[in-house]
Amino acid sequence: MLKNRIQCFVIADYNSDCMNAKKKYDFHCHSLKSDGALSPSNLVARASENGINMLALTDHDTMAGLAEAREQASHLGIHFVNGIELSTSWQDKSLHIVGLGIDPESSRLLEATSKLEQIRNQRAEKIAEKLEKKQMPGALTWVKQKAGGSMITRTHFADFLVAHFYVNAPQEAFDKYLIRGKPAYVTTRWLDMAEAVELINQAGGVAVLAHPMRYKLTASWMRRLLTGFKEAGGKAMEVVTGRSNPEEIKVLADYAKQFALAGSVGSDFHHPNNQWVELGRLAPLPGNVQPVWELLQ
Ligand code: AMP
Ligand code: MN
Ligand code: MN
Ligand code: MN
Repeated sequence: MLKNRIQCFVIADYNSDCMNAKKKYDFHCHSLKSDGALSPSNLVARASENGINMLALTDHDTMAGLAEAREQASHLGIHFVNGIELSTSWQDKSLHIVGLGIDPESSRLLEATSKLEQIRNQRAEKIAEKLEKKQMPGALTWVKQKAGGSMITRTHFADFLVAHFYVNAPQEAFDKYLIRGKPAYVTTRWLDMAEAVELINQAGGVAVLAHPMRYKLTASWMRRLLTGFKEAGGKAMEVVTGRSNPEEIKVLADYAKQFALAGSVGSDFHHPNNQWVELGRLAPLPGNVQPVWELLQ
């Protein structure tokens, strides 16, 4: 019996490897419409160079890059999926919910993104005030200019701190100032998680729990989250991300199976300078998980 099961898994993994060899997917990445370094069209061009067949652009709280990305994808023969990564709150935690296959003209989704933009602008003011109190003035003007009308994120503040030699690298900016418990951290109430899932569903999309390992939850909190996400209408979770190790992938595949969620694959690519993360450079989705692309046209 056990032997049969093992054989089954081996065959399933083998099949999934074969499928992934045929097609390359990436359902999580960022352009300069939020905190990515590349324009939407340059991002899609890079995806094409990397041999990606199906791509979603998932900027933080904005759909502003989708039209440009779609246009470029149609030139390059890439199947493009409209995406977004929504900032949400659940039980005093910040969670990211990716929406795939959403209608970018959904009025409720557009309303939510403008509310999130306001929340981000207000938070930016508070972060800048906190930095000023620490003798690091001028951040708000700098990040606004750098963002150029795109969503202002903590990455922009990390860039400000690097540009002004307060830190040596963006990671140091996060670790010293920008993460929870550090001097420039601002507690923020985002969209309610269940509301975000409902909005995505209503806009014809598939709601995907982004990078579940990033939240550092205990097993019982993870089960609570997946139960709540599922009840809210969530359909999938990221099982493979750009920095996942094989053990994490196995754990997440087991959760996906247990909660009857489809599995997504997404690099969370932001910047070509990050040697650890590349568009489309992803381990295969384990064969025991339903692939999210089966839920997308
Ligand atoms: P936020 O503006 O809070 O949505 O954060 C924007 C981005 O900052 C995230 O999407 C990540 O790209 C990056 N980020 C968040 N936390 C960290 C961290 N601890 N280290 C490095 N980058 C981070
Ligand atoms: Mn980001
Ligand atoms: Mn995220
Ligand atoms: Mn992301």
